[in-house]
Amino acid sequence: MHRLRKAVALALLFVFALGLWGCGGAPREEEAETSLAGAPGTYSATANGHNGPITVEVTVDEGGIKDLQLAESSETPMIGGFAFDVLREQILEHQSLQVDAVAGATISSWAFLAAIKDALTEAGADLAALESREIEKPAPGQLTWETDILVVGSGMAGITAAVQAAEAGADVILVEKLGYIGGTSATNAGFIYGAGTKVQEEFGIEDSAEQYYKDLLYLTEVAKDEHIDPNLLKIMALNAPENMQWLVDRGIKFYTVDPANIHPPRSTPRIHKAEGGGSAIIETLYKLALDLGVEVYTNTPVVELLKEGDRVVGAKAEDIYGNEITIKAKGVILASGGYARDKELIKETNPKLTEYTVSNTNEGDTIKLGQQVGADIILKNSLLMHHVAYASSGIGYESYDAFYVTPEGERFVDESTYFYWRSRELRERGFEDMWTIVTESLYETYKDAIEQSIEAGKAFRADTVEELAEKINMDPAVLKKTIEDYNKMVEAGKDTAFGKPAQYLSKVKEPYIGLDMYGNLVDTTGGLRVNENSQVLDTEGRVIEGLYAAGSAAWAQTISQEYEGSGTAMIQCLTFGRIAAQHAASQL
Ligand SMILES: Cc1cc2nc3c(=O)[nH]c(=O)nc-3n(C[C@H](O)[C@H](O)[C@H](O)COP(=O)(O)OP(=O)(O)OC[C@H]3O[C@@H](n4cnc5c(N)ncnc54)[C@H](O)[C@@H]3O)c2cc1C
Repeated sequence: MHRLRKAVALALLFVFALGLWGCGGAPREEEAETSLAGAPGTYSATANGHNGPITVEVTVDEGGIKDLQLAESSETPMIGGFAFDVLREQILEHQSLQVDAVAGATISSWAFLAAIKDALTEAGADLAALESREIEKPAPGQLTWETDILVVGSGMAGITAAVQAAEAGADVILVEKLGYIGGTSATNAGFIYGAGTKVQEEFGIEDSAEQYYKDLLYLTEVAKDEHIDPNLLKIMALNAPENMQWLVDRGIKFYTVDPANIHPPRSTPRIHKAEGGGSAIIETLYKLALDLGVEVYTNTPVVELLKEGDRVVGAKAEDIYGNEITIKAKGVILASGGYARDKELIKETNPKLTEYTVSNTNEGDTIKLGQQVGADIILKNSLLMHHVAYASSGIGYESYDAFYVTPEGERFVDESTYFYWRSRELRERGFEDMWTIVTESLYETYKDAIEQSIEAGKAFRADTVEELAEKINMDPAVLKKTIEDYNKMVEAGKDTAFGKPAQYLSKVKEPYIGLDMYGNLVDTTGGLRVNENSQVLDTEGRVIEGLYAAGSAAWAQTISQEYEGSGTAMIQCLTFGRIAAQHAASQL
């Protein structure tokens, strides 16, 4: 399984066994009752994790820490849960608390460690001794591995490619930069977009892959994105039925299929919602990959692509032990995500963007790796970004009765349109932020979140429009006119400006509340240029032999800012992750 980790772990266990028990032999009688870990028994303690409280049970015996169990947790299984398993293995193996947080799951890791320490304190453990017990690391060296196909990144694109390549008979190594498996995909909702599927049929939904393709073409036009390649869109749409079934056949269960929005083309139910979210999808495919013999290494970022002549022949990676690893491979699949966390590149490509949050894990390694081998890189002045409100998971999504204005106080959109549609409109008008002016019905639905936002200084309340305008830095005359015009349309029951359906029209009245809406960067829209086999192309349009890319590493030609619906990212990863693996395996 974790080949490197296992080898190092065994070596450390040996070193540690010598150190802990000296010349061997059983502990003397009087030492057998308590150990550095305290008095035998099971102790529990709770700490606050990433998603809420976690409770850990620690069992101590005469030999030390005997077992660690997670009694209660709402952490994401493939992130916090994975981190707990990693920490558990290390602590039990080395009887030491000198362990590092799992990269990408630090909040969960610190919570587990805090709870474990509290429980051990209760047991009467010598915490200082356990914390200072060094875990000896072997001297770093140079390693060489060899495989048929190297997959870089373990998100949806990478884990799909690994499974598909192994099923096609290839030897596969998958390396992951973070300390857990799944990247952004493990954090996501597990929605997958597609049409003409058996799952839709089972839910009584009439639809077709051909219609899906037409709708994708239409949205490309709306987005005015000249990089979109209709041929690749067609592959994604027409293969959706088969790809969705591929997942179902491997154990993914969909509990419903929903529309993305009330307006066509998004009103057809196409969002396939998986049980357990993205974490469960990744976990299922990860276990399958291990069963198929894929070797998986976490904490092992690829830092360089290796080329011989015009062909990519592998990569160089590093691990947390300082080893430099040369991985020779006949095919390399970059599934290493986009560049949402590369602040400089985001600024360079989207210069107007100032304040935003990022809920994606990727730092732009794909772009740097692609540059090393002369790949054609498409960068866009657009992002998968939508606007959300502080303290609310609802406002900004299906809150069709909201009333949005630009920072200049002007209404700009039918608030019932899809949230990516709205954010594109906003950006096209030259703005990056917007405000929700709270309507009567919006306040009813989201009272608690709105009040919390006011307390946190993310929303402002005022008795008059003028006072509100001053607080949120707008021209009072403009805001006043916008609100008056809107209220007149509400009274008349007809939105003559943007055509919002009458049932979502709700009045704005005193006290006036303005809610700051900031951009949340979900993913980027650029990436490496690829052909229909997911092979990476160079700046002359030639195939870089041996190099493939899928998912947000290479979706500039399939994903525009006018994203069709939640789940489009996952269908892209699934489609092109499989295609890359099939083509790479066919070349062996
Ligand atoms: C909160 C949230 C909810 C979302 N919900 C949905 C949804 O329901 N449906 C949907 O379709 N989309 C959703 N998205 C978007 C979607 O999750 C991402 O666009 C998608 O996961 C991208 O998948 P990927 O495999 O390309 O990248 P990732 O899942 O990010 O995987 C890339 C992996 O590569 C690794 N990596 C990076 N560099 C290196 C390197 N040098 N060496 C080795 N490994 C490396 C990363 O650590 C990461 O694990 C959501 C996004 C967010 C943030």
